[in-house]
Amino acid sequence: MSENSPSCIRFGVSHFCPACKSENLIKSGKTANGKQHYCCKECCKRFIIHYSYNAYKSNTNQQIILFAKEGLGIRSTARVLGISVTTLLKHIITIAEGIQQPPIAMGKSYE
Ligand SMILES: [Zn+2]
Repeated sequence: MSENSPSCIRFGVSHFCPACKSENLIKSGKTANGKQHYCCKECCKRFIIHYSYNAYKSNTNQQIILFAKEGLGIRSTARVLGISVTTLLKHIITIAEGIQQPPIAMGKSYE
């Protein structure tokens, strides 16, 4: 499958930038192994969209959060999900990075 694409593409499926969630994406060449690169027009980040992997990943992350709330340990969670502890830790880092820190200044100061 070869695509000779113009510089601006409208996507039928919703893709969005992993950094800023903008859907304002343009195709931006291909990687050495033929994967489509995208470029975000909002934050100028370049990335590759992994269709199946993204779905898998977000689902896994939700399960990890669920298990964490249930008080399941790292090893148990990894075993239940069928992934290695190393992979699980990578997911946890991804989750942690995705969590927005609440603003500290809320009109009160604790000193
Ligand atoms: Zn972006």
